[in-house]
Amino acid sequence: MNAVLQPSWAVLDPNDFYHPFRQARLAQDYEMWRAFQPIAEPTSEQDWTILTTLLYNRTGFPRHRVTRFLDALDTLDRLPRLRSLVEETWLLDMDHLADIDRAARRAPVELQNDDHYWSTLDADLIERFTPSRPRQALPGRRAIREAVDATIRSVEAEAAAAGNPEPDPWGAPQPEQEPAGPVPCEDPAAQMRSLPPREEQPDGILFIEDLAGGKVRFDLIVDQATGTQIADAVAQAASEKETTQARAMADLILGQTSTRVTTMVYKATDVEDAPAYHPDRGILTPETTAVLEKLATGTLDMDAAATRQTDAYETSPAIRAYLFGRDWICRWPGCNRRATHCDADHRINHADGGPTTASNMVMLCRHHHNRKTDEQAFYLLDPVTGDVFWLFADGSWVVDTAIGPLAPRQRRWVQTYAQRRQKQRKRAAAQAAEERFERYQERINAPPPPPAPQPGTHTPWLNPPPDEDPPPF
Ligand SMILES: [Zn+2]
Repeated sequence: MNAVLQPSWAVLDPNDFYHPFRQARLAQDYEMWRAFQPIAEPTSEQDWTILTTLLYNRTGFPRHRVTRFLDALDTLDRLPRLRSLVEETWLLDMDHLADIDRAARRAPVELQNDDHYWSTLDADLIERFTPSRPRQALPGRRAIREAVDATIRSVEAEAAAAGNPEPDPWGAPQPEQEPAGPVPCEDPAAQMRSLPPREEQPDGILFIEDLAGGKVRFDLIVDQATGTQIADAVAQAASEKETTQARAMADLILGQTSTRVTTMVYKATDVEDAPAYHPDRGILTPETTAVLEKLATGTLDMDAAATRQTDAYETSPAIRAYLFGRDWICRWPGCNRRATHCDADHRINHADGGPTTASNMVMLCRHHHNRKTDEQAFYLLDPVTGDVFWLFADGSWVVDTAIGPLAPRQRRWVQTYAQRRQKQRKRAAAQAAEERFERYQERINAPPPPPAPQPGTHTPWLNPPPDEDPPPF
């Protein structure tokens, strides 16, 4: 096979004229920030302000930049496989590392201290940064953030599954005859990584601040389900009334306009416990999913929408929903604009006989739609994978892979999510059975001997360690 058709990142093409400059620059930049790292170790009374000021005096790098990149290296140090990948290939620059850092720190504080979270994230990022197509375009900021969010959700789901093990599949449950006194090993938290309950939080927080010039600023913090509905209502009212989102929100609150909120959520129906996605919020928490599912008034079959066709120029709601779910963002390489803010482009123009159907359409933001219309770039679409092959006037090309929940990569990830949850549940069930057996053993070894166990109430021994006696039944 021609080497050019092996999976590879377009930015790592060794034959590219810019390649040696890029590699040298990224390596030097990285080494420089690594060199600054010891300065950031607070070895004396100096606080962060003093440390960053000293660094500023010697280098001219402002405090926010120092903080951003040293935090990024701190996080990278918790991801040893990603660190090796960075140092061996120079695929990612300091800004990418800062994006990963910022996304990773969005995890709840319980996860920040959990080695399992970091090792899962490390493995997931390695998968994300392994190319699957020849000349693949590097994932953008939004794709990186959503990949990290997906890991956070999946580790949270594992913890939830561990706290809720499946019923013992081997026979009747053991009647709970707790021995007197303290019970050893009752809390499997260390092994199960069950999260402590979140601190009680108020329903929401509203800050109102008077600004100069007769303006008032509002900061509103609400739960994700409420926020998703508010944001959808505001965006839809703004679009209907052709006004700004701020004006639309004010008008909605003051009752001067109204809108019917349509909130779209994507969820696999063939995978148990599949996570849900919102086109603006990304992957949703299980709590939000539960709230929004209760409110759902209808479902659209995305498998059917994938091949649906309409004679009209405008997409039908189902085709549009499919395009959002496949593309997620503007498909121009490196653009992060959300698909909900994009145009549905006919690859072959409707006027030239191009059908209005997903296999002939790609979401592009207005800016990049114009570049395509001006014929400065041209694309081919693989309707099966959702890959877009971009061809530019200078003869170069890259492959942009789809990142939405309907794209094959994300579909595979949904399987991973469900499998992790299942595995954790089975491990938790096995652990619970093991503990019950240990308690049983303690009881039979303890004087005075307990009454003989009733047949049919035993808990079978699961995965006995080889060096221990077999179970007594
Ligand atoms: Zn764009």
